[in-house]
Formats: sequence, structure tokens, C-alpha cells
Amino acid sequence: MSYKLFIPGPIAVSDKTLRAMAQPMIGHRSTDFVALYQSLQPGLQALAYTKDPVYLSTSSAWGLMEGAVRNVTRKKVLNCMNGAFSDKWNDVALRCGKPAGALKSEWGQPVDPEAVRRELATGAYDAITFIHNETSCGCMSDLPALMAVIRQFPDVISIVDTVSSFSAMPIRKDELGIDILISGSQKAFALPPGLSFCSPSKRALDRAAATEGRGYYFDLIEFQKNHENGMTPSTPVIPLIYALKSKLEDIKAEGLDQRHARHARLNQAVRDFIFAKGFKLFPREGYGSVTLNCFANTQNIDLAALNKTLKSKHKLVIDGGYGKLKGKTFRISNMGDETDETIAAMLKSFESALAETPKLA
Ligand SMILES: *Cc1c(COP(=O)(O)O)cnc(C)c1O
Repeated sequence: MSYKLFIPGPIAVSDKTLRAMAQPMIGHRSTDFVALYQSLQPGLQALAYTKDPVYLSTSSAWGLMEGAVRNVTRKKVLNCMNGAFSDKWNDVALRCGKPAGALKSEWGQPVDPEAVRRELATGAYDAITFIHNETSCGCMSDLPALMAVIRQFPDVISIVDTVSSFSAMPIRKDELGIDILISGSQKAFALPPGLSFCSPSKRALDRAAATEGRGYYFDLIEFQKNHENGMTPSTPVIPLIYALKSKLEDIKAEGLDQRHARHARLNQAVRDFIFAKGFKLFPREGYGSVTLNCFANTQNIDLAALNKTLKSKHKLVIDGGYGKLKGKTFRISNMGDETDETIAAMLKSFESALAETPKLA
């Protein structure tokens, strides 16, 4: 059973990447590992436009998302909520026993910089979380506008989830003043799941050093100590780190600007094609994601039937809507290694499957 994933994560992984994983193990305290770890830093830092370190965590992104909140919240964290992942972040902060405020928007609406300003101006908060690209509803907030507001509150540590946008578009961490940037392996990176990334600012590390209850596995201070020796705190997922090395070589060969332009072009190609079939984008106009499209099911088609046809006849899968949007939206990823040809082929399959898909009453 083999089919290609066009869901927004995990996404298809290239044969080159899979082969890179199948290498002999090395000790994680060996000079070989240190050389491997250190060889990855320039590529990762280039992707984040940062001089800060980029840690490798053997966890999915949620590990670091939870860990970051525990590392830097002393007073109270403001969770900006506009989709499934950002909503859950508030729940996670509360489960960690952190005082947490909820700044809620409807799913598909971007995080509102002025609302953030009003909340932070209360002085109640010393940390904030938001998601750059809310994968659940395909909504991309205005990162520069949000960071321009947050920078005016120097006591507030910013934790930014770029899980589904990192590497697909420029995210200038240092210039924007992002304190903790988090990403994961199975979205725009097109690696298998299980590895995540975190780049902390000096301010974030200072805050962590003064914060109780950081735990061990996601303690930023532990990460930093080990990073300085070219290592991770505990035994990392070495096969995925081999895969990351291979992927960073691919990214370098393509060129960052070309990579970003490719994602924008393919995203627009999907949008234009599906619009022509009579569908609309779900998120607010002007805030559509560049790595996936979340379409409103304005034609009321049977998405389960559509996906069944896509899978059985065309050997591919799209997403039929996340959580409460199931059946109401569908999402198509253009992350990772997709090309004009693979996207065109997917759209042709979509067109053919759509033609035999019934509408719901
Ligand atoms: C997928 C995703 C996550 C969660 O990632 P896991 O790898 O499941 O921990 C968090 N945030 C965003 C924006 C995502 O797309």
C-alpha cells in the first residue's frame, strides 16, 4: 500500500532522505557525532536568519512548545489562539500549572497585533505564544507586525511556533526579535516526524536560568550546556539527524530564495486551480498560508468520498478538515519537495476525482 501524502504533515519524504537515515549508528558522545551536530548549525542558522544556536530535540514540536512555556513563564503567559494548535497551547500551559491568558480569535482569523498590544499593556504577562502559520485552518498571521508590537514589551519573552512555515519562507529571527523559535521535522522540512528545533535568544536563556520547574528533558539550560560541546542532552534520534544533514544539503543546493519562491509559486498554483472549481479559501483574505491551502467546502462535496477516490485510484491523500472543520474544509499541502510537475499531477488527479464525487444533500 503506497500513496503520496498531500496532507499538511507528515508529508512525503524523498528516497534520498530515507536512504540517508539508513546509516550505521555512531555514539552520541563521540567526536563523529560532535562533527555531525556542528556541521548542521550553519545551515539551520541560515534558515532562521539567526546567530543564535539551534537545538535539536528528539520529540515532536509539542515537546518544545510545552518546554518553552515551562522555561520562560514566571508571571503569566499570553496564548494567542486562532486554530487547533494555538488553542491547545493554552491548555498545555495550564496543564503545566502556569498562569495563562487566552487571546481568542475565530479559527481562520489572524492574530490581531492591536489586541496583542492591549493585552501586553496590562503588564500582567512576561511571555507570549503564537503560531505563525496555523496549519489547522491554513491561516498565516502577520509575523513582522506581531513582532513589532511584542518588541515594545521588553519583559515579554516571545515563543513563536513556525512548525509549518519554517524553511518555506524567510523568517528573520534576529531582525524580528523572536526569543524562542520552534519548528518540527515533518512539515516544511519534509523529514519523517520525531525531531524538532528550537532557537533561543540570550534573553530567553537568561529568563530560563531564573525560572523554577523547567524539568530536564526540555530544559533550555541543559540544551545550551550540551550545545556548547556539540551535543544534545540525551541520546538523540540519530537517523533523523542524518536525514536532516541530507536535507540541509538539498536546501543549500536549491538556494534559499529559490526554495521560498517555489513554495509561493506552487501555493498559488493550487489556489488558482481550486478557485476555478468554485471553492474559496477558508482563512481571512490576505492571510492564507504559503505552505498549504485550506479551502472552504463551499460546494458541499462529500470529502470522505473524494479522499477515498484519490487514495484508491490516484494513490494520494489530501486532508478532509481538522477537528471541528472536518467535512467543512479541505487542506492541500505544497510543502517540502513538491515541484511544478508533482503539483500539476496532483491537481489533475483532484480534478478527475472531483468529477465523480457526489455533493451532500
Ligand atoms: C503539526 C503542528 C504542530 C504539532 O506538531 P507535532 O509534531 O505533532 O508535535 C504544532 N504547531 C503547528 C503549527 C503544526 O502544524
